[in-house]
Amino acid sequence: MLKRDLHQAEPIPEEARDYIDALLASGDLFRYHASENSPVTLLEQEFADMLGAKYALAVASCSAALFLSLKALDLPRDAKVLIPAFTFAAVPSAVVHANCTPVLVEVGENYRVDMDDFKAKLTDDIPAVLISHMRGHTSDMDQITALCDARDIPLIEDAAHSLGTTWNDRKIGTIGKVGCFSFQSYKLLNGGEGGILVTDDDDIIARCVIMSGAYESNWQKHGLDCNTFAKYQNELPLYNTRLSNLSAAVIRPQLQHVQRRIHDGLRNHDLMAEQLNASPYLSVPVPLKPEKRAPDSIQFNLIGFSDDEAHTLMRETKSRGIAVSIFGLHSGNARAFWNWKFLGEAPDLPQTKAMLMRACDVRLPAALTVEQVNTVAGVILSCVKQIKHSKAA
Ligand SMILES: *Cc1c(COP(=O)(O)O)cnc(C)c1O
Repeated sequence: MLKRDLHQAEPIPEEARDYIDALLASGDLFRYHASENSPVTLLEQEFADMLGAKYALAVASCSAALFLSLKALDLPRDAKVLIPAFTFAAVPSAVVHANCTPVLVEVGENYRVDMDDFKAKLTDDIPAVLISHMRGHTSDMDQITALCDARDIPLIEDAAHSLGTTWNDRKIGTIGKVGCFSFQSYKLLNGGEGGILVTDDDDIIARCVIMSGAYESNWQKHGLDCNTFAKYQNELPLYNTRLSNLSAAVIRPQLQHVQRRIHDGLRNHDLMAEQLNASPYLSVPVPLKPEKRAPDSIQFNLIGFSDDEAHTLMRETKSRGIAVSIFGLHSGNARAFWNWKFLGEAPDLPQTKAMLMRACDVRLPAALTVEQVNTVAGVILSCVKQIKHSKAA
């Protein structure tokens, strides 16, 4: 039994208290109250620097960042946007919210976009692609960017779980036209809620900043060296999905812990993967060659399990304090595309469905010690053994 909740976050660094005390004393919680250098603006600058991006805009969630990115592309109403069929319900939701129609692309048993299906679905009526690096798994970004570039259509990256991941040494979130990240508590930077987008594009940043709620001339308080703002002032609707200074004060002191969290998360993941892969009934897919991962969870596939056995695994692990969730068997799971009823009738995606029915999901926060990781692996392996061997006997 693990004496730790796998969804428990790390404590917020002590330094955050000083910032927060100052904010409480001044009551200065709104990013546009101060004319410059508000905590939200500083967070944006620090985040952009960390990623090597020209601009960043912090907002209320990654979903809001995805929504604003799509709106900033100025797509026609009901435009079709390609997205992977394996992602979190918030992603197709953001597409719908932006008055677009998601077109779901098959995902293979390695959790990455199936490139044959991607090519088949990238038809002339697709004006944009949104790639969700689900659970931090990176699809073939070389092929995807080449295909988008050849058609001159924009690519948005949902990098909610990919902070610190690289592809050919390029930071995930900086490959597409816009990259969106989350500060929700289960991600690498924990603001409770929050999100941020990065881009190098002068028009996109101006449009996103204004639509996020920079009414009147508040865009001037972003301190950005970019002259496209005035052009859009009062030309775009305001969706008011800003981040509060309090959230920025919680997030900023965590930036210096990013490298450690990436390092420890990868250590925990690889240690666990090695143990799980030693079982003939479990398989942790290998990443594509150019990818260096920064995981805070692990996914693995069950081999030769019936539905009953898979359900037993979920039940048994849960009773031993390590809840293994199987995306497609865990009832109502928000990552199973057939549960996205708001899209209408579920499309036929046999490959993604087969993967979801056997793909297990376990949180593996960076703060776990090696000993705790061994405990988690031990519980899963012992439950698997119990299920498969009781059968054989
Ligand atoms: C968490 C997550 C989101 C949504 O992030 P919010 O900040 O909660 O809106 C989107 N996509 C993926 C892949 C996620 O993991």
